[in-house]
Amino acid sequence: MAKVIPHFQRFKTAEERFWEKVDKTAGCWVWTATTNKKGYGRFWNGERLVGAHRWAYERYVGPVPEGHMVLHRCDNPPCVRPDHLFLGGAIANAGDMMLKGRLSLCRVGASQFAGVSLHRRTINGRLYEYWRARISINGKPTHIGTFASELEAAAAYDEAAVRHGLQRRANLAEQETST
Ligand SMILES: [Zn+2]
Repeated sequence: MAKVIPHFQRFKTAEERFWEKVDKTAGCWVWTATTNKKGYGRFWNGERLVGAHRWAYERYVGPVPEGHMVLHRCDNPPCVRPDHLFLGGAIANAGDMMLKGRLSLCRVGASQFAGVSLHRRTINGRLYEYWRARISINGKPTHIGTFASELEAAAAYDEAAVRHGLQRRANLAEQETST
């Protein structure tokens, strides 16, 4: 493992090549190499050019399911900080709605689960949706996270309720125990 390889013989790992192109500020971690027209970073993953933020998500958070896209919480396209990224699912046949800028980022609906709501955002002309979980702690609405599925958001709400010692009926346990 600790075998010393002369520098000129040594190939950098993808991780090394990636992070040397990133300027980590206190907030966003900004891609400093090639970007596309919209400002999204481009990274050579060893086989082809891919979105830098998407690469960071897949490498440090998890896989991106078919039909999903990696979105930015921070609305900063060159940012590759994994905890600023989240998944949204593509919505088919949303062409008309997309053209109305008002829909670009708005709450579109409540969920059957406590603390969960559905949101939408347009990226590169396509509409994506994602679920947000929030919980009220001492009367203050607190952001828990954004999720690709409603169930994940509901589970995160449950987890937050337990973590904060709140006596709430859990979203998912309630389903499992009802007969
Ligand atoms: Zn960011």
